[in-house]
Amino acid sequence: MKKQIDLEIVKNSIRNIPDFPKPGIHFKDVSTSYQDGAIFSFIASRIFEHYKNSGITKVVGIESRGFILGSVLANKLNAGFIPIRKPGKLPAEIYSQSYQLEYGFDRLEIHQDALTADDVVLIHDDLLATGGTVGAAIDLVRKFGISHIYINFFVELDFLKGIDKIDPSVPSWSLIHF
Ligand code: AMP
Repeated sequence: MKKQIDLEIVKNSIRNIPDFPKPGIHFKDVSTSYQDGAIFSFIASRIFEHYKNSGITKVVGIESRGFILGSVLANKLNAGFIPIRKPGKLPAEIYSQSYQLEYGFDRLEIHQDALTADDVVLIHDDLLATGGTVGAAIDLVRKFGISHIYINFFVELDFLKGIDKIDPSVPSWSLIHF
């Protein structure tokens, strides 16, 4: 018999790892959600339902956990998939954007020929924490002159208020909230 999935089952499938990768961080391990075929399919279908009428032409996934659902969503939406990668990984001409971490800075990169100004872009990452990562991804997508940008997360950590750092004109939607 087919397993019936609901949002509570999805939420409970996310594994909590205390003090990873460093003390004080409560890591949400989404690999335990993706490893179950019925749960993985439910997550992708729910997010697809949310965006199916938005005219998305490109899904932009953030390295590396944003690649997993991001490529499934692109396929379901009949859109192209574009990777945003960590420094030094992309082989052709790139745009680069640095952003602030808790300590220091990091950088994200995208190929210069990945998008065009008329694209409707869905940026996807597995999780929204403080918002720095997706903020840099939005800045990269804007370098193409694109105005239609959506952002989506499988999981959002509401208590970190990452959403407050993001331009409110960019619609954001997350499937699961903690
Ligand atoms: P941030 O820039 O703070 O919003 O962090 C988002 C990125 O870091 C995402 O790509 C997540 O995969 C990862 N991340 C940050 N905090 C956590 C956490 N508590 N559990 C799992 N992943 C996290």
